Amino acid sequence: MPDRPVVTRFAPSPTGHLHIGGARTALFCWAYARHFGGHFVLRIEDTDQKRSSEEAAKGILEDLAWLGITWDDGPRLEHEGTLIGGDPRGVGPFYQAQRLEIYQAYLERLLAAGRAYPAFETGEELERLRAEAQARKETYRYRQAEGYDHAQSLAEMRRREAAGEPYVVRFRMPDTAIHVIDSVLGDIRFDEEHTDDFVLRKADGFPTYHFAVVIDDELMGVTHVLRGQEHLNNTPRHVALQQALTHEDGSPFRTPVYAHLPLIFNADGSKMSKRDKDKAVRKAVQASPDATARALALAGKDALDTWLADKTRQLGTDSLLALAGDLRVELPEIDSEDFRRSGYLPGALCNYLALLGWNPGAKNDDGTDLERFDTGFLCDHFSLERIGKSNSRFDRDKLLAFNQAALGALTPDAFERELRTWCRRYDPGLPETLGDRFKAAARAIQPRVKVLSQCREPIAFALIADDSVVFDEKSVAKVLHKGEPTGLAVLKEFRPILGGLESFEPEAIELAVKAFCEARSLGMGKLAQPVRVALTGGTVSPGLGETIALVGRAGSLARIDRCLLVCAAR
Ligand code: GLU
Repeated sequence: MPDRPVVTRFAPSPTGHLHIGGARTALFCWAYARHFGGHFVLRIEDTDQKRSSEEAAKGILEDLAWLGITWDDGPRLEHEGTLIGGDPRGVGPFYQAQRLEIYQAYLERLLAAGRAYPAFETGEELERLRAEAQARKETYRYRQAEGYDHAQSLAEMRRREAAGEPYVVRFRMPDTAIHVIDSVLGDIRFDEEHTDDFVLRKADGFPTYHFAVVIDDELMGVTHVLRGQEHLNNTPRHVALQQALTHEDGSPFRTPVYAHLPLIFNADGSKMSKRDKDKAVRKAVQASPDATARALALAGKDALDTWLADKTRQLGTDSLLALAGDLRVELPEIDSEDFRRSGYLPGALCNYLALLGWNPGAKNDDGTDLERFDTGFLCDHFSLERIGKSNSRFDRDKLLAFNQAALGALTPDAFERELRTWCRRYDPGLPETLGDRFKAAARAIQPRVKVLSQCREPIAFALIADDSVVFDEKSVAKVLHKGEPTGLAVLKEFRPILGGLESFEPEAIELAVKAFCEARSLGMGKLAQPVRVALTGGTVSPGLGETIALVGRAGSLARIDRCLLVCAAR
């Protein structure tokens, strides 16, 4: 049991959607805090003013709330009638851009102690120094110049401040190796030659990530920092800063427990990156002149040219989605929002994410590894000891299987609610088209999809006009013209019975079908297949009662009539 209340935090930079790796980090931080009954803080790291936006911050809050990862301390959000966030411990504000005075106070103390110092090189000068080091096959490290005079530098800093001229403030790194103790990776020594005098305060007056993160973690009482391994190289800087910083009363900063989480890779071994979506579309655009022309019309020449030439560039989400739709490119899901759009359930997604770098180490009754669990189980069992060291592979088939099982396990009413909620956001036309057939549609869809976005496929026949059913040649020959009596004859006989049914619910239809077949000593297929061909054009569809109910009374009769007319002539 930790010796002070556990506080974890998720600290996204609001520069885009919540990446699935970020969602995994947030999930682990949340589960760890819940496990110990501690606090989970959400902090928005918006010190990069050019790349940050309030819209992105809001999107991230929404994404987390959708996943069910709720924060105790952080920006307030109303989500489906409940209020998330707030500042019960009085440690806010939670947007770093609103904490500039706090950072400045700590900076002044570091400056006074000589642990921070102003630096005046221009971008070009730094570039030249970097190039020179490279030519000597050395890694460039900024270090205080020999003969540096702190008093003189401070005077120059104040002069520039008054004149509005740019300068930065750097941290004087100690000349010794830094030890990072990581709960997952063990003790790691960073030799002094790998660390430089990094910037604390940028020319625009904002703190760098390194500076703000250390101050905020301390002031927000963060005890455990769980974050991706891509941040491991930042950690010696943070530890050195913690050792140099003190509070106003002279008390030292503490070093939180660190746990760096394994990276997440695609199945092909590449890093799972938000650029993967652009990569997929770029490939399609370049594949044919026709596709390039369509991209040109959508994105405009300048935007397209730079995007094609520079693989690090990303097209805006709207253009990318439009282009992908137009070129029929399936975009890989990368952000939490992508998975939501595809129609994953948050519970299934969290379950799968939990296994990316963690495992409960428990077995099912049959001896296989326990992999399916809910977030309650995760919170009960989550521990740093079971976080793995090696990189994780994102296995999309496995996630699909998790989701299919989760969808299948819902009660029919719960599935219908999930589908309605999903449609409201991504396919409002579907409930509109289906009207009061929505319930029957949901019943037919539930066992046939892996994700909600596949919902139109199993009921596609119910979404087309009655006179546009295309009767499949082979099915017509096999099902309608062969046998004694022929399918056409059975269909003709069944039509008035169907027309006269009192209830058009699937169950009532099934009963009528059964009675019809029994009275004539016909196998069920002898009626079911001709009806399927008439209503859907082919022989594969959901249960017969469901299929007929979905097409509706008027539609079913019209389709049977048209089938009798069109197919009798073949
Ligand atoms: N703002 C940083 C990021 O989004 C946070 C890293 C950290 O957790 O310290 O990557």
